[in-house]
Amino acid sequence: MDRPDIVILGAGPAGTVAAMLAAAQGMDVLIIDSGHPPAARIESLPPMGRALAYDLGLQPALDAAFLGRVASIDLHRPASSETRRSAPADAPDLLDRATLHAALHTLARRSGAKLATGRGWIGSSPTPTVALGDRRFFPRVIIDARGRAALPRAIRNAVAALPFRTVSPAPPPAPRMEVTALAIGWSWIATLPSGRCEGALFTDPRNLAGLTATRRRAMLLSHLALAEDLHVGRPCPAALHAAPFATATGPILRIGDAALARDPVAAHGLVHAFRSATHAVAAAATILGQGDASAALAFLEQRHAKACRQAAEGTALALAGLRGESAHPAEPARAAVPPLNRPLRLSRALHEAPVLANGRIVWAKAIHLPASGEDATTFGPSDAATIAHLLDPPAPVATLARRLDAVLPATLGHAILKRLIDEGALVPSDQTGSRATMA
Ligand SMILES: Cc1cc2nc3c(=O)[nH]c(=O)nc-3n(C[C@H](O)[C@H](O)[C@H](O)COP(=O)(O)OP(=O)(O)OC[C@H]3O[C@@H](n4cnc5c(N)ncnc54)[C@H](O)[C@@H]3O)c2cc1C
Repeated sequence: MDRPDIVILGAGPAGTVAAMLAAAQGMDVLIIDSGHPPAARIESLPPMGRALAYDLGLQPALDAAFLGRVASIDLHRPASSETRRSAPADAPDLLDRATLHAALHTLARRSGAKLATGRGWIGSSPTPTVALGDRRFFPRVIIDARGRAALPRAIRNAVAALPFRTVSPAPPPAPRMEVTALAIGWSWIATLPSGRCEGALFTDPRNLAGLTATRRRAMLLSHLALAEDLHVGRPCPAALHAAPFATATGPILRIGDAALARDPVAAHGLVHAFRSATHAVAAAATILGQGDASAALAFLEQRHAKACRQAAEGTALALAGLRGESAHPAEPARAAVPPLNRPLRLSRALHEAPVLANGRIVWAKAIHLPASGEDATTFGPSDAATIAHLLDPPAPVATLARRLDAVLPATLGHAILKRLIDEGALVPSDQTGSRATMA
């Protein structure tokens, strides 16, 4: 029986990074990919994605695919245009997607992951299986990294991307990105000093239905000021879609676009691919290492819910910005300040939450933060249980501050109390609702 520790279906950014990280930890990893050539396009990676990728050891792949750092972003809205310039440290990188793909494959192979080519599928009867032709694998963990191919067709097709490339007759001195609101959607274009110019039109697929390649090209030229020497690719799905769950019995762990396919208007697909791969590998390490599988799966679901919320907000914000309605994120939610001279208690009892620690997922005591919906297990050097203990019994905020100051480094107690108050985690002790008790 072929029983590797992990089989990963799909070797895009999410699958290859998961394979690399898992193999580097000594897990026996097989990654199966259909072998279709990756999309030939430029993609952008924001600074926080760059930092995450470096932390994960992906710098060689990023370096190989690096085309330049964006020096300016032109935003063309219906009623106004603006050019944004940022310091290099705050600017996104432009990456050659095909080179990134090849470089990530190299890293995965070097880490010891085995790669098989072919169209695989996941079966669940009688036990979770991955099939490739007439071969059957019975891994202990399955990672579904098939990208948008894993999504239901109807949803996949709600927004279409029409990719194109050309040579700019007037290349900028430094890499430039342009985002343009159009009557039929919006466009994203990256232009390099070499003249290489690539982008995509994002539109309702009905606008492209039945169009020949020639008419798709004419459509692009009618909406965008592009050079006549224009090569138009095939439309591909680009709608925001979140799978209802990031895990399924098996266990099957969904990562990258297979779990959450972001609308490219918010352009964090690569970041999500890398991050979700990291989380899935921590979950797999927990499960394979006889850790608490329930913590691992709960952690993935919590992270998935958070990523879905952020993606929906990011897309709404980016589209509103394009329409010129608002380009600023909403203020973080903040609770009403409780009367500070009355005894305050935690709004909810200390409870168990899944937390990632040293590459494994465990249950840990947490304080619920109502405004952000987060569960905090640590506060600086202190854990949630210590803080909850110091806050009990209920007392006015000055007394709580004295208790925290007695055991915590200077100013930390004040910062913790402020965070708890801003989050609505401290309420008057006589307020009705779930009573906080020490766990
Ligand atoms: C036009 C466009 C522009 C974009 N621009 C950006 C950008 O600028 N920045 C950014 O961060 N993101 C961007 N994205 C999103 C980004 O490309 C994706 O989020 C990212 O590729 C997701 O990686 P993944 O590994 O989850 O999936 P994919 O990259 O789709 O990889 C999935 C892999 O699985 C394989 N596969 C599928 N089915 C099977 C099967 N049955 N058996 C075996 N293998 C299979 C496929 O061949 C593929 O190799 C863009 C997306 C689009 C459509």
